[in-house]
Amino acid sequence: AKAAGRGTYRQFEATMGAQLQAHQQMKLALREALSRGELELHYQPLISLHSKKVSCCEALLRWHSPERGMVPPDLFIPIAEETGLIVPIGEWTLQQACRDAAGWPADVGIAVNLSPIQFRSKRLVGAVATAITSSGIDPARLQIEITESVLLDESEHNLELLQELRKLGVKIAMDDFGTGYSSLGYLRSFPFDKIKVDRSFIHDLPRGKESLAIVKAVAGLGHSLGITTTVEGIETEDQLNIVNSEGFDEAQGYLFALPLPASEIMELIRQSPPP
Ligand code: C2E
Ligand code: CA
Ligand code: CA
Ligand code: CA
Repeated sequence: AKAAGRGTYRQFEATMGAQLQAHQQMKLALREALSRGELELHYQPLISLHSKKVSCCEALLRWHSPERGMVPPDLFIPIAEETGLIVPIGEWTLQQACRDAAGWPADVGIAVNLSPIQFRSKRLVGAVATAITSSGIDPARLQIEITESVLLDESEHNLELLQELRKLGVKIAMDDFGTGYSSLGYLRSFPFDKIKVDRSFIHDLPRGKESLAIVKAVAGLGHSLGITTTVEGIETEDQLNIVNSEGFDEAQGYLFALPLPASEIMELIRQSPPP
């Protein structure tokens, strides 16, 4: 039994070793990904529920690794954060997204996700300003999506940073709304322009009574605070009908479109309103 135990442990060690090595290799590969041109932005439209047209497109990172194939952002962004690589990657994302948006109709916004690590980097405000001036887009088109995790510490400093970004003329959206501990508290302290209800509250609609109650409440909250309300993860007509009748301003999800390469998003914008 003892021997078997040791064997199991050795196996465990071997697995751990292999995992560590894979993680280490992924780190090294990610370091080269940017310069090798392996990163790409896909764009997913947000549809205005008033005009039924594309109001904005969200930039979503994709990594085409020659060894690993398509690595999803949920896998490589944590590694990019751990290594600090998210700072140059995030700056590239801001630049590329604004550059792409410069080719779209001027009434279509561009949403970019921001990592908490980027938010703590001294270069953030400069990077946003550079992306705007070098692309020449109207800063009001740029929407910075941040989650609660961005705001967790040094909230005084964070408030100042948000206000500095605001001064550049960009919009600030609270992403994944409802998934954190203090979404409501942040709404009181920070000047958000938009709240984006997390798709976990949409997923079980129309059946989920709790989700429905929360979705309704957020619509009312946005309304009374004068904040644009958006939902993500709309996959069915039933879900769309609900958010429509609750008075949401925008919706995003597979029902409308998947995230698309830059070359395909232009056509979709031109075709909007979608069928
Ligand atoms: P997120 O910001 O919440 O983005 C929405 C995610 O939901 C995207 O996944 C999108 O493809 C997916 N999605 C959209 N519509 C639907 C739908 O109808 N149903 C379902 N089930 N899913 C839908 P994606 O592209 O895999 O991105 C995952 C996460 O990675 C993002 O979540 C965001 O947190 C992060 N991410 C992506 N790009 C960036 C980036 O450039 N910078 C940073 N910091 N994070 C990023
Ligand atoms: Ca987002
Ligand atoms: Ca989300
Ligand atoms: Ca997220």
